[in-house]
Amino acid sequence: MTTKTRSAKARDTGLDVRLPKETCTDPKCPFHGHIKVRGQTIEGVVVSTKMQGTVVVERTLLHYVPKYERYEKRKSRYMVHAPPCLKITEGKRVRMAETRPLAKNVSFVLVENLGEVSLPVKGEEEVKS
Ligand SMILES: [Zn+2]
Repeated sequence: MTTKTRSAKARDTGLDVRLPKETCTDPKCPFHGHIKVRGQTIEGVVVSTKMQGTVVVERTLLHYVPKYERYEKRKSRYMVHAPPCLKITEGKRVRMAETRPLAKNVSFVLVENLGEVSLPVKGEEEVKS
């Protein structure tokens, strides 16, 4: 159990993330609404913010192919709900957490802004055999 020493404004999500400085009135915000997170947390890069309240997050990972003894680059895209208090723009590294399905294709919510991407996209996870 976590102690209730954090600021009364933001709800404790149970994740080890920086709390947003702003507050919002979004009911689907994990800090100021009533969305509970459980399951996976994933890091990625925001590639599109054209939808209302939802962003597209892409993550790349290296997958080892034993036959060629090399890595292949894989990527996957997630539609992620973006609460307004996090102030997410395109090109930001973010952390998202799994929630119940919020829409047909949305079952993740952003929980942390990890800042700007350093230009050659770093942080690619290596999957060693
Ligand atoms: Zn919020």
